[in-house]
Amino acid sequence: MKIGFIGLGNMGAPMARNLVAAGHEVVGFDTEAPAPEGVPMAGSAADAAADRDAVITMLPNGEIVRAVAEEIVPAMREGAVLIDCSTVDVDSARAVHALCAADALLSVDAPVSGGVGGAEAGTLTFMCGGSEESFAKAAPLFEIMGRKAVHCGEAGAGQSAKICNNMILGISMIGVCEAFNLADRLGLSRQAMFDVVSTSSGSCWSINTYCPAPGVGPKSPSDDGYKPGFAADLMLKDLRLSQQAAESADADTAMGALAMELYRRFVEEEDGAGKDFSAMLPRLEKRHRG
Ligand code: NAD
Repeated sequence: MKIGFIGLGNMGAPMARNLVAAGHEVVGFDTEAPAPEGVPMAGSAADAAADRDAVITMLPNGEIVRAVAEEIVPAMREGAVLIDCSTVDVDSARAVHALCAADALLSVDAPVSGGVGGAEAGTLTFMCGGSEESFAKAAPLFEIMGRKAVHCGEAGAGQSAKICNNMILGISMIGVCEAFNLADRLGLSRQAMFDVVSTSSGSCWSINTYCPAPGVGPKSPSDDGYKPGFAADLMLKDLRLSQQAAESADADTAMGALAMELYRRFVEEEDGAGKDFSAMLPRLEKRHRG
């Protein structure tokens, strides 16, 4: 396929490189990032999108995705597919689908999980929203850049799935960190905590796979000084998106709102910026009740 790739940062660059390695012809555009190996750069987003079978965007937020879509949709050829892999708000995702539909373009919102490591290894999971036809056209590219692509439903369904998942993750990570901190103060060893909880009803990904306590469980960012991994800043972004969606859908998400507020304080008022999101545990160790 002839592919345009817009947004070649930490995630976009390795994804584009994997498409080139699989034999696709990729032209890129980024306002700042350098050209990844094997990806010639166009002079504008519209130039990168013109006459392409598929255009992929991997950009920081919904406002930028909407602005880029306004620019590239008129340049794209009829029947081409626009695949937005950025994590953005559901309303922006739907607005981009509507722009594409008005111009007879196919479109998929396809946020990812798996981080930079997954992007490099081609093992991302894609959560996708859009028509069957759009998903079918994009699917061969997901197979190259990832290990799994789930068609979650119509326009915006991919973003909806992503923020619901990450709202659970934010809440469960705080829960696990609070429990470790309480266990410490009750005199329980961390190994005993891990051995019991990871095989009991409190088990979840946040303890079993990504344990926030160093030295117990499988290797995780806590064993590497809480270097991300998945940064607390990105968790805050996703929790904000979940609360924006909950607001517009009139859903009661008290725990999600509290998780967002705790990560906001950690990142904006304390020393959480740039640390892995599991560094909520050392944060709690320093604190007292009330
Ligand atoms: P990044 O900041 O490294 O990359 C974004 C790129 O977009 C930058 O190179 C920037 O110059 C470029 N850009 C900004 N405005 C532009 C414009 N108008 N036109 C063209 N290029 C423009 O961010 P990232 O880590 O690659 O993340 C990209 C997206 O993926 C985000 O939405 C993020 O939430 C999501 N995501 C990231 C991770 C992760 O672990 N980094 C994991 C899952 C999802």
